Amino acid sequence: MKLIGPFKQLLTMDGLPLKGALSDDQLEVIPNGGILLGGRNILAIGNFNQLKSSYNPSEIEQLNTSYVAFPGLIDAHTHICWAGSRANDYALRLAGKTYLEIAAQGGGIWDTVQKTRAASVEELILLTAERANVLLKQGVTTIEVKSGYGLSVDQELKLLEVIQKANNETSADLIATCLAAHIVPKDFSGSESDYLEKMLQNLLPRVLEHELSKRVDIFIDHGAFSVSAAKEYLLKAKALGFEISVHGDQFSAGVAQLAVEIGALSIDHLEAADEKEISILAKGNTIPIALPGASLGLGEPFAPARKLLDSGTSLVIASDWNPGSAPMGNLLVAAAIIGAKEKLTMAETWAALTFRAASALNLTDRGILKSGNLADIAAFKTDNYKEIFYQQGQLNPGKVWKNGFCVVNKKNF
Ligand SMILES: [Zn+2]
Repeated sequence: MKLIGPFKQLLTMDGLPLKGALSDDQLEVIPNGGILLGGRNILAIGNFNQLKSSYNPSEIEQLNTSYVAFPGLIDAHTHICWAGSRANDYALRLAGKTYLEIAAQGGGIWDTVQKTRAASVEELILLTAERANVLLKQGVTTIEVKSGYGLSVDQELKLLEVIQKANNETSADLIATCLAAHIVPKDFSGSESDYLEKMLQNLLPRVLEHELSKRVDIFIDHGAFSVSAAKEYLLKAKALGFEISVHGDQFSAGVAQLAVEIGALSIDHLEAADEKEISILAKGNTIPIALPGASLGLGEPFAPARKLLDSGTSLVIASDWNPGSAPMGNLLVAAAIIGAKEKLTMAETWAALTFRAASALNLTDRGILKSGNLADIAAFKTDNYKEIFYQQGQLNPGKVWKNGFCVVNKKNF
């Protein structure tokens, strides 16, 4: 048994609803808090001194400066398994070129696909683990990682295997998602339905067989996949046993109905979601995931996070870290920016990065600091939790624990 603390403030994120608006006074804040661990799990949460006298723990990790602790953050949408850079695309976009013009000059997703296909497994494992560790230093202890830069049966399998192996090279948990349906690759001769059918026949059963992922995602929009082709694909993927998430309403609206109907865990992007889409999501259980990094990278509007929460939906914020539209790779900064722009309470932003994000990934053992959950903890060197988003992502955690082990420890931070 190990006791960690005392934390100046311990924010458990416990007892809050999965859906709807939240005010900061709903947050449970335990002053002088302690976390009692048994191995990788939390045994008890409470006042540090009371836990110390009640349990008489064999080990005490005493904190001698002020820290504010939250559950380890969860980034529910990333594409961090890639090779190459799209800095040239970015420069062209800043110079006013359109997506199609950039693609015609050899940029876009296809450019990353070619570079990722050419990269070795070892190189990709290193790149993926390095990026995961960048997020870990921000307090992110669970990271969803999509494939999607392989776009053939063998190359998608390669990327899912890379993600599985990278999981052993970082202390963060990597949750793999199969995004073979990112775009129809340029070297595939056939319709979008032909491509999806090929993935259904030849890829998804092997993904299950090798336990590489239990999640399937698809990019639905102009230039990617249509709603009708996606529906057929997702119904079949679901029948195989996959959990579903979708990229939807990024450039054009109209995906919410499918996401809700199919029982998707999440619909991610929503920059183009209008009142109709919001009202459909308000009636369903699919969780909206806002990706402010992509809004910033493309110069597009933010997802209507305020309206979504006020309509009664849940809300998650993720980094969408990818080489094209969201190269920043900083979840705290991205969350601080959309929070300021969309007028999200701090409680709503923290919920979007913790227990609501866990729910979007169907993970029930994290996102809340409570007995039985994994001891994933992000502790910031401050005496007031409001400092964290006030500093707009510049205050990173001084200490991070994953499964009860201290994996980030900035002595002079
Ligand atoms: Zn994405």
